[in-house]
Amino acid sequence: MARPDRRAARSQPGSTQLRAGRPRRLADATWTDLAGREPLLLAVPVGSCEQHGPHLPLDTDTRIATALADQLARDLEVAVAAPPIGIGASGEHGAFPGTLSIGTDALISSLVELARSALPTVSGDTGPFRAVLFVNGHGGNTAAIATAVSQLRSESRRVAAWHPRADGGDLHAGTTETSLMLHLNPELVRTEALEAGATERLEEIRDELTSGRLALVSPNGVLGDPRTASAERGERLFTEMNGTLLAAAEQLLSREIAGHHRVDHDS
Ligand SMILES: [Zn+2]
Repeated sequence: MARPDRRAARSQPGSTQLRAGRPRRLADATWTDLAGREPLLLAVPVGSCEQHGPHLPLDTDTRIATALADQLARDLEVAVAAPPIGIGASGEHGAFPGTLSIGTDALISSLVELARSALPTVSGDTGPFRAVLFVNGHGGNTAAIATAVSQLRSESRRVAAWHPRADGGDLHAGTTETSLMLHLNPELVRTEALEAGATERLEEIRDELTSGRLALVSPNGVLGDPRTASAERGERLFTEMNGTLLAAAEQLLSREIAGHHRVDHDS
C-alpha cells in the first residue's frame, strides 16, 4: 500500500505542526480520511460512570481522560483520539445512585479486544494504527489496564498505558479532580455543594475500597477536600498531565520506530 504521508510525518517527530485535514478524533473521521496515511497512535480514553461527590458529574473521569487524549492529538502529529470508554470498573462506588460498572474482567476483555481490532497485525503496516495508548482517568481501572497491557504486549502488540499523577493531590472528587473540572467544564461543577470528604490516605482505606464499601468511609463519596480547588490549579495540573502523557506517547512511538518490541513494566 502506498503511504504518501510517511516521509513528511517522520521528518518532524513530535511536531506540533498540523497537516490540513488530519483527523484528531477518530469518530469524526471517515474511513477515506484514514486510508493510505501514516499509521497513527490511537489514544483511548478509559473513564468511568461513577459518583463523584455531590458536586461533580458522574462522567468526570471520562471527561478528564478525553480532554487529555484530545490535547495529545492536537500536540502530536501522529496521534488520534478514540471514542472514550465511558463505563469502567467502579464497584467500590456501587452504593451511590447512578454508578455503573462492568467490572475488572469485562474491562480487561474490552481493552484487549479493542487493541486487537486496532492492531490486527504485529507489524502495524496493514492498518491505520501503529500503537495503542490507554489514557486512564479512573484509579479503579488500573488493575484491568495493567492486565490488558501485559496480555497485549505478550502478543507483541505496541500498547502502553498512562495514568494521571498529581503531586499533593487527593484521591477522589477532591481538590485534584475538582480543579481539573473547574478548568475543563466549570459549568458542570456545583460549587454550592462543595464539601470535604474523608481525608485518610489510600493505605488506610484500601480494604474498604477493594471490598466495595467506599460509602462507609465517606458518606458523601468524596475522598479529599474540593473546597481548595481552583481553575488555575486545574490548568496547571492539566498542563503537567499533558506533558507526562506526551512523553509516554513519544516513548511508545520511539520503541516502535526503533523496532524494539520488548516487554517492560512502565505504566
Ligand atoms: Zn474520578
